[in-house]
Amino acid sequence: MGNKSRYTGWSPSRWRAWQDCEKKYYFTYVKRAEVPITAEMAAGLMRHMRMLQFYKEDGSPKYKSAETFANSVKGPWIIEVVENSEIAGRKIKWRDPQEPYRTLEVMKRDLRAIYEPYSQEAPPLFTEQRFKVVIPSKSGYFCFVGRFDEIRLGERLAVRDHKSGLLIPEPEELAENEQFTIYSLALASLIENGNLERMLHTLRRPEDVKEKALGVARELRGLSLVEIAQNLDLEYHNMRTGGIIQVPRRTQESFDSLIAKVSEAERKISENYNSNIWQVNEDSCPKCVFANICDRKSQVMGEPTLFSLVNESRIAQEVQDGLRSDSFYIPVKQKEKVPKLPFPRQSRKKVNV
Ligand code: SF4
Repeated sequence: MGNKSRYTGWSPSRWRAWQDCEKKYYFTYVKRAEVPITAEMAAGLMRHMRMLQFYKEDGSPKYKSAETFANSVKGPWIIEVVENSEIAGRKIKWRDPQEPYRTLEVMKRDLRAIYEPYSQEAPPLFTEQRFKVVIPSKSGYFCFVGRFDEIRLGERLAVRDHKSGLLIPEPEELAENEQFTIYSLALASLIENGNLERMLHTLRRPEDVKEKALGVARELRGLSLVEIAQNLDLEYHNMRTGGIIQVPRRTQESFDSLIAKVSEAERKISENYNSNIWQVNEDSCPKCVFANICDRKSQVMGEPTLFSLVNESRIAQEVQDGLRSDSFYIPVKQKEKVPKLPFPRQSRKKVNV
């Protein structure tokens, strides 16, 4: 029996996996099963990568037109993704040899749609900014980790999240979406403990932009987490249409509900490690990447694994102590090499399906 108590905190994707299906959580975070991702998932990752390249350092769009931005996806997609059937270290399973090229056309159409609204806006303050925060509560300390797709400054500070799904969520759904609750809590925490100000001091942007952002962050510092959250905008950016939807701001109730659910999840995970039972949720099966390896049974074969939430709490406490330093945010380098393009014949031969 091994001890699997290494605690990495709750990322939005870890939380989503837990909520989708306990067995999916088991495959992803306990067994760490590696399965190929779909073309849609690969395209979602590629759209995120293209967004990182949208602006020059001076804040103007890097691409002259929607068409040049759309065409910019061709090189990285064909050379880096299609040739190896891999993106960000994950293998891709294509449905048929033409799927990579159909997907390319869909991505180009989406990037054309994104170009217009994005070229009218100022660049974000931060992109792909990693965070790790620990939130104290009556039930203990809870650690949240992840990346903000963008932190922006408009009338207020805002978190913008890029989404690749075709379905536009209803406002009620967005009000309850816990991924946005995690973002709101995390940015409020960075502001509350002064770390956002430290990050802003390192920002390579015009002085007036930095001063304005610092002024907003300073005004909020000293307020409670929920008061800060009430002053933050949350934005859902649909990367299929270029549309941006305002997400309702988070309240004390949103935070309390998230913490209560996470607390219960940690208790249940501890129990599952010991019983080797991870409840299946067959409603999630049609979209699950583990569909081909999963037997749809809750019982997992093999010896139970020792797992202790006492360890998790202790480690979370250590991270809390570390909050006094500013070592938990990591600036991201955004340079990208765009390869030459042998599109399409040579690479088509190499598609693995
Ligand atoms: S295939 Fe279904 S039961 Fe199995 S992990 Fe995925 S969602 Fe859960």
